[in-house]
Amino acid sequence: MHEMGIVSGILEASTAAARREGALSIREIHVRVGDLTEIVDEAMRFAFEALTPGTLAEGAQLVIERVAAVSRCAECSAEFSHGRFDIVCPQCEGFICEMLHGRELEVSHIEVALPGEEDKP
Ligand SMILES: [Zn+2]
Repeated sequence: MHEMGIVSGILEASTAAARREGALSIREIHVRVGDLTEIVDEAMRFAFEALTPGTLAEGAQLVIERVAAVSRCAECSAEFSHGRFDIVCPQCEGFICEMLHGRELEVSHIEVALPGEEDKP
């Protein structure tokens, strides 16, 4: 399950950023995951639950935002969304395409609790 390694990297980056800001804890971690990655949401959540205890992100929520696959046709420049195996231009049926979205794997932002605001909802 390579999600373990992926989530471990996400946690490392997030906790490092939170620590830099002097945060007490991380409330939410928002990640963008392209539809063409092999990543399974449930496996990510499982890894997140397994890896967060004892870290700044203990009890935090993992928010997964899926990014649809979009490519641009090299023939006619049309941009279109598609699944994993049907990358064909709907306009000219060309199949030489440049992928624009779908392989994302990034932390878009995190929400943290800063000292002095612990009592806020
Ligand atoms: Zn085309």
